[in-house]
Amino acid sequence: MPIDLHTHSDRSDGTQSPRELVNAASRLGLDAIALTDHDTTEGWEEALTAARSADIGLVPGLEISCRYLGAGVHLLAYFVDPDFGPLLTELDRILDGRNSRLPAIVERLRDLGIDISAKDVRHVSGSTAAMGRPHVADALVAKGVCRDRDDAFRQYLSPGRPAYVDRYAADLVEMIGLVGEAGGVSVIAHPWTRIGGAVLDDQALGTLASKGLAGVEVDHPDHDEHARARLRRIATDLDLVITGSSDYHGEGKASRFALGANSTARSELDRLIALAGAAAAATRRSGPPVVFR
Ligand code: AMP
Ligand code: FE
Ligand code: FE
Ligand code: ZN
Repeated sequence: MPIDLHTHSDRSDGTQSPRELVNAASRLGLDAIALTDHDTTEGWEEALTAARSADIGLVPGLEISCRYLGAGVHLLAYFVDPDFGPLLTELDRILDGRNSRLPAIVERLRDLGIDISAKDVRHVSGSTAAMGRPHVADALVAKGVCRDRDDAFRQYLSPGRPAYVDRYAADLVEMIGLVGEAGGVSVIAHPWTRIGGAVLDDQALGTLASKGLAGVEVDHPDHDEHARARLRRIATDLDLVITGSSDYHGEGKASRFALGANSTARSELDRLIALAGAAAAATRRSGPPVVFR
């Protein structure tokens, strides 16, 4: 039965509330999903409550903005203690970087002659804790400047485009350590999208495995069959857990990837749970409540 270990709610750049997301997954007959909002655990409580009544498994997670050898890398962290101080401090730094980038993006767009303000963006970003380019894209769509999020990224927001602005990201190796200290496990998200395999080659993944990385997201909509086969072989050689997920961001225009589009084997999720249990025991942390059937 399908287990989708990478989804977003409106607490970051998804379009559905955590409850709506969990209920949508339940209606599809998924066994479990992980809620992995960007850089925040704010949606966990609502998602856990919804999962209990919908009788679906819920893995608490987040997708942390990191940097490795100069390149942006997304790190999925599961089962961390959400109140672990050093992790919270670093997440606050990332969220601050997201907020302080917004005026700079808006200024660039205004320089291009587009009538947009930070208020316009905050108007469409609703209950997010992690302000991001997708919200700027939504504002551009609402103003009729762009067709959809993809169009906004292509024209303005992707690296190399005129309104792109960089922001703070955590050091990847340090973050893998912090996640372990927080009683959780780390999985590299979509390692071969955008930045490509240039930075995260087999050697780099080996180094990261030796620093405590638990797994690699092999089955992701942005990976073609060839990439998946190569990544699967590398992960197997390094004894890394192999996950599969959709990276779902909601219905409609924001939906690049369908919920449940890829799945993680139950045996691989069990490995993650066992590794998180060992990490939590080593740091004497109880970890967050986990709904699982
Ligand atoms: P940010 O968090 O501000 O760095 O923006 C990155 C987020 O934008 C990613 O997590 C994706 O969800 C989203 N994104 C990146 N490229 C695209 C695209 N071409 N179309 C829609 N969303 C995108
Ligand atoms: Fe996103
Ligand atoms: Fe990502
Ligand atoms: Zn994601």
